Amino acid sequence: MKKKISIFGSTGSIGLNTLKIVSHLKNQFEVVFLTCNKNARLLIEQIKIFKPKAVCVVDKNAYEEVKNQINLSDVKVLFGREGLLELAKRNDVDIMLNALVGASGMEPTLCALESGVDVALANKESLVMAGDIITKAMQKTGASIFPVDSEHSAIWQIIKGEKIDDIQRIILTGSGGPFRTRSIETFKNITVEEALNHPNWDMGNKITIDSATMMNKGLEVIEAYWLFGLEPNNISIVIHPQSIIHSMIEMKDGSIKAQMGVPDMKIPIQYALTHPEHVQASWERLDFFNCGDLTFEEPDLEKFPLIKVAYKALKLSGTASAALNLANDYSVYRFLNQEIEFNNISIINESALDDHPWIQNPDLEDINNLNDWIKNYVNNY
Ligand code: MG
Repeated sequence: MKKKISIFGSTGSIGLNTLKIVSHLKNQFEVVFLTCNKNARLLIEQIKIFKPKAVCVVDKNAYEEVKNQINLSDVKVLFGREGLLELAKRNDVDIMLNALVGASGMEPTLCALESGVDVALANKESLVMAGDIITKAMQKTGASIFPVDSEHSAIWQIIKGEKIDDIQRIILTGSGGPFRTRSIETFKNITVEEALNHPNWDMGNKITIDSATMMNKGLEVIEAYWLFGLEPNNISIVIHPQSIIHSMIEMKDGSIKAQMGVPDMKIPIQYALTHPEHVQASWERLDFFNCGDLTFEEPDLEKFPLIKVAYKALKLSGTASAALNLANDYSVYRFLNQEIEFNNISIINESALDDHPWIQNPDLEDINNLNDWIKNYVNNY
């Protein structure tokens, strides 16, 4: 029996890599749903190749284009946020791959888990926004999250067989992004183009900016907290510019386990779909004799204050991480639109965190209300 998979965000970087893997594992997987934001042309191509039962297009014009160009007796075409949530709630699917961008990915993750569907999670914002609500949904239905984020996939792989009590700390590695060696005095002049040029990973725009500000690493600390259950003080960050070690755990006796490989998202994506098996694949291997030196540095918290802000949000608990994440979604969008300077991303994010109406135990409605509040706050800053 083939596993039925839905891919949310199928036209983005993670979505495309997932479809490559599904093609290579075509005896194991059947694509049942695809969703995209607005890349109609690419979605139409994917519909022809993978023949899903239904798709959803969030953007109105793109939706019209898809609907007009495909045979509607073969595939159902849904529209907008409503259609997205409708597909996310379906339980006639075995696994959802969630590669949506930003806070918009949270509710689909929750819908799938509530329907008892496992989620291969590339959308780290889901856990940052609603870690507590999502954890409770998993306990209720027994559905699981399989991490796709490379650092969390690494920890997931090396933590196997170990007792949580034996682990001293999780060590998340990070490349340091494109501005690791740039002088802090010139940070205010950073252009969108410079920030979009990541040295090791080829990713979507939002996460590439998050890597440049290192907000991404901060969000990953919060994601690790929810996935692995260690206290914030036992999750640390080490800068490793070559991105060969994808993360580590340090045991109580000082033993360190690391997971390594070439920086290629196909590896963590495939493992999220095939675990506990590591299935044969033909992509590039790590060449120890030509990968150069592996080096390690302390993160520069003056250049990248959002790392500190993420720990602060995690320790504050309640709505704090959601507020930070939402603020970041909107401030990154404003930076990409050239409305604010690079340095203002961290300033706005921290102010929004400090000023937002904090709630200890938010429900989904509280978080949706917070979204409106933060959107207004960031756009008027
Ligand atoms: Mg990552």
